[in-house]
Amino acid sequence: MSADNPTRAGDYRASVLLPLPLSGAYDYKLTLPAKRGAIVTAPLGPRQSLGVVWGSAEGGVAEAKLKLAEPLDGAPHLPGSLCDFIDWVAQYTLTLPGMVLAMALRSRQAFEPETMRTAYISGNGVPAKMTPARQRVLDTAKDGLARSVPQLAEEANVTPAVVRGLVDCGALQAIELPEFDPYRPPDPDFDVPKLNTEQALAAEVMRGAVRGRRFGVSLLDGITGSGKTETYFEAVAEALREGRQTLILLPEIALTVQFLDRFAARFGVRPAEWHSDLSPRERRRVYRAVMSGEAKIVVGARSALFLPFADLGLIVVDEEHEQAYKQEDGAIYHARDMAVVRARFAQCPVILASATPSLESYVNAKNGRYAHLTLTNRHGAAELPEVRLIDLREDRGDPGTFLSPTLRENIARTVAAGEQAMLFLNRRGYAPLTLCEACGHKLVCRQCSAWLVEHRYRKRLVCHHCGYETGLPPACPQCGTEGKFIACGPGVERVAEEFKALFPDARMAIASSDTMGGPAEMQAAIRAMQKREIDVLIGTQIVAKGHHFPQLTLVGVVDADLGGSDGDLRARERTFQLLHQVSGRAGRAEKPGLVLLQTRNPKDAVMQALTASDRDAFYEQERKYREIIHAPPFGRLAALILSGHDGEAVREAGRVLAKTAPSARGIKVWGPTPAFYALLRGQTRERLLVQTEKSIDIQAYLRTWLKDATIPKSVRLVVDVDPVSF
Ligand code: ADP
Ligand code: ZN
Repeated sequence: MSADNPTRAGDYRASVLLPLPLSGAYDYKLTLPAKRGAIVTAPLGPRQSLGVVWGSAEGGVAEAKLKLAEPLDGAPHLPGSLCDFIDWVAQYTLTLPGMVLAMALRSRQAFEPETMRTAYISGNGVPAKMTPARQRVLDTAKDGLARSVPQLAEEANVTPAVVRGLVDCGALQAIELPEFDPYRPPDPDFDVPKLNTEQALAAEVMRGAVRGRRFGVSLLDGITGSGKTETYFEAVAEALREGRQTLILLPEIALTVQFLDRFAARFGVRPAEWHSDLSPRERRRVYRAVMSGEAKIVVGARSALFLPFADLGLIVVDEEHEQAYKQEDGAIYHARDMAVVRARFAQCPVILASATPSLESYVNAKNGRYAHLTLTNRHGAAELPEVRLIDLREDRGDPGTFLSPTLRENIARTVAAGEQAMLFLNRRGYAPLTLCEACGHKLVCRQCSAWLVEHRYRKRLVCHHCGYETGLPPACPQCGTEGKFIACGPGVERVAEEFKALFPDARMAIASSDTMGGPAEMQAAIRAMQKREIDVLIGTQIVAKGHHFPQLTLVGVVDADLGGSDGDLRARERTFQLLHQVSGRAGRAEKPGLVLLQTRNPKDAVMQALTASDRDAFYEQERKYREIIHAPPFGRLAALILSGHDGEAVREAGRVLAKTAPSARGIKVWGPTPAFYALLRGQTRERLLVQTEKSIDIQAYLRTWLKDATIPKSVRLVVDVDPVSF
């Protein structure tokens, strides 16, 4: 557009942000004035990069040196609220703005018009000679639906040549159609369930918030099975009636198939999806449809926050307490927190839903910053299950077995009654530890400070942190004794083995992210459970959340102590949330549920809270504890992780960095200490922890400190603001 454009190139200037790890936006010349958000191509060295007009030019660069950026055809642009959000995320997480922009910008093709396909319908031409094959094609095409040549040939049972002959004589007429069918807007009133009083009350508050078109946060805090999804669907329906877009964030891809089915049953169509499994073409299609406003509802993983919504009217964060919302590489951010910020810039409400909210959200709801909407009853006749502890110190089977006599009896009774059971163990593989019987040597990963987990199906030892795999060595690497390895402790595969030996006739399936043949097979296990084709489902945390199995009456937690002892302050909260979620799978329909927790610490506060079904007592205790130690949400934290292959260099860099920390009131710097995985993928990791009072601008402090920090080239520094584990 530049050569014959009457406007002289370079009449206008702007700063343009490129989706690259650069220190900021660069000045460019433009042929036309452009607003913030306008998408351009800009030369950078020998390359052309996509970029976004970010603001007015900074100046300071000589006119002659400025390069020319050109707008894309059709002048696509990112919405202003998304640009503001990108700036905010960059400054909050101390990430280069270009790297945050990279999450919001797709390839150039995404901004071009959708590709078209050629299809055929009946035309006016008449073939010189009519044959039965030709007649079949014309009969097929009579319904007016557009079909491709191969489709017509297949349906009429003729060769493609026959179809082409009809095209040539004009009996079939070509039309151009978009490559994909357009998104059909969901029907807000398609199959509306009748809400109970509590649900209706919560729904009314959320609908009002959608109509109000203002920022505000609601915590939809309801026990498992209370109908949170059903209730927030009402808010989604309201956004549809208002003609606005909704983003529903889900923590895991594993949840989406069931969720999408359910969504379709309620709204009549499937929503647009956004997650890592999409093909590049589907990705472009969703991106385009979100930008044009055609996609009214997007169900997505955390990265969907960076989509260019034309008119965002509502964000829902389902299972808001989930750790999976934390993005741990690239820009490190927590999608729940960022969803709240995104909603603020878009001036729309946000709903956080959970049966076990994060302590942060719980505190915000209690102190009135969030609207607290509670659902205290299960829908229909369902009651919360009874939770009982099994003290493994007394109630245990033979050595090397993991299902206690009490748990076994209850499984037998459940299966005999034609009901379903679930055994939960949050550990993949067969055994978490393999050691040499002769010398006690533990088989560990070569490049991580982690045990190798035996996967017996695949006959491999696997590091769950870096993915390193090896076969079982013929002899102990330490003492040379041959073939004397013992598997210690259970993984789901081992529990399944024990189960099969005890209940050879029961129909059983394992659901774990890696014993299964990928997501499809896992979905199949979950569907089989729903259809009652299996009696017992044995699984890791993949089965713990979200699923609704009406005939499930018994949940057995094989090791309730797992995860409670890793020295992490949030471990108790996480253990509680996970076990509470698992327990919530039981007794979701008419029949009452029973949950049996196998533990060696029956006196532990988490175990007590679970059996007393007194969730808030646990939250209050956690809250007080965090307040005393000034931990979030009563103080701020940031972790600085130094890593590299040269261990000594990493430790030295940590010591030097700690010495240069400016001292200031209300700020403490701890460490360096070895990070939680002191060795990961062959890299030594050291951690410094910055803790400040709530009122302190921790980013400003970090920026001042790190501006002048000298870190050797061999050491990498990553800043994690609001670390999940501390
Ligand atoms: P939660 O998200 O709180 O765990 P769900 O929304 O999944 O709860 O609801 C649990 C079950 O109860 C689902 O099968 C849901 O369809 C059903 N349910 C909840 N509320 C209603 C209602 N008002 N009418 C009919 N079914 C409902
Ligand atoms: Zn490893």
